[in-house]
Amino acid sequence: MIDLIQTRRDLHQIPELALNETETHDYLLQVIAQLPQTWLTVRTIKVLPTAILVHITGSQPTQTLGYRADMDALPVDETTELPFSSTHAGISHACGHDLHMTVALGILAHFATHQPKDNLIFFFQPAEESHSGGKIAYDADALPVIGTSMNSMVCMTAPTYPLAPSPRASVPSLRGPAKSRSTSPVAPDMRRFRRPPTTWWSRLPRS
Ligand SMILES: [Zn+2]
Repeated sequence: MIDLIQTRRDLHQIPELALNETETHDYLLQVIAQLPQTWLTVRTIKVLPTAILVHITGSQPTQTLGYRADMDALPVDETTELPFSSTHAGISHACGHDLHMTVALGILAHFATHQPKDNLIFFFQPAEESHSGGKIAYDADALPVIGTSMNSMVCMTAPTYPLAPSPRASVPSLRGPAKSRSTSPVAPDMRRFRRPPTTWWSRLPRS
């Protein structure tokens, strides 16, 4: 059983910029290796070496469902003084990708012990903030054909609501014909958060 709180804190402490997610990559592989491997196939992508793809073979598959979690952090100093603050100067998981990866690992851990009916693909994607990691994988034909893709998004400004599907299609990089749907903690009356007019991260320098 994965300790998800500890996992998130571990990941939070080792933030890395786009295409340099090597420690994160190794940490994720180590966690995945601890899961039952009966239905799992893990592979990496040559042109995107920090990416990880995990395939779970379903019992009676009629389709393949995708779940994507971004891996990179931002060039932002962490000033929270939390005991599990970033240990990498000038870099922090200020966009929540540590949480996104932890959610993906939790779902992956569940299905590693409860075989799903359909096939599942988990895509741990480097370089979401810059350098377009999803497009690199797509252009290299490294992503499998999937039916539906999902990801999660944390929103610090939204009140707490149960997880709900959102029409915001945030994973266009997964190979179609995909019906793209993200699960976001956004309630129907919180539509204004779905397309924030100007977000603080959009003003950060991009490398
Ligand atoms: Zn982000």
